[in-house]
Amino acid sequence: MTDVHEPEIRSYNMSQIKGKDTTPEIIVRKYLHANRFRFRLHSKDLPGKPDIVLRKYKTAIFIHGCFWHGHEGCKYFVIPKTRTQWWLDKINRNRAKDIENFQHLKKRGWRIITIWECELKKERYLNTLEALIENLLAKS
Ligand SMILES: [Zn+2]
Repeated sequence: MTDVHEPEIRSYNMSQIKGKDTTPEIIVRKYLHANRFRFRLHSKDLPGKPDIVLRKYKTAIFIHGCFWHGHEGCKYFVIPKTRTQWWLDKINRNRAKDIENFQHLKKRGWRIITIWECELKKERYLNTLEALIENLLAKS
């Protein structure tokens, strides 16, 4: 049994996925749905309330904003010139919390996939989503 369509069907689905006002999270959700993956959203019973949870694959997906989660080396992660220390403290707290949540999840045997917002921009999202499916289906 397989969860994945043939590639040509998948790319057909893609044309319907990206419309106006699609947030990064919705892009990923629609793609997984189109490829018949079953998932839950924001599972409160798991550390960090992962954005997307695929129980069958014991995988938690986090879709992170590059600014709020401090995506190192990313052009979308630019600390404002005013109140710089305040922003740094805030983002460092978010990062520390992410690391803590990931550790808890790993201890419980969960696989974690982080997708950054910049990886879902127009010129990159298709590669990102295809890699995600490959990653999900790979034997761990
Ligand atoms: Zn980024």
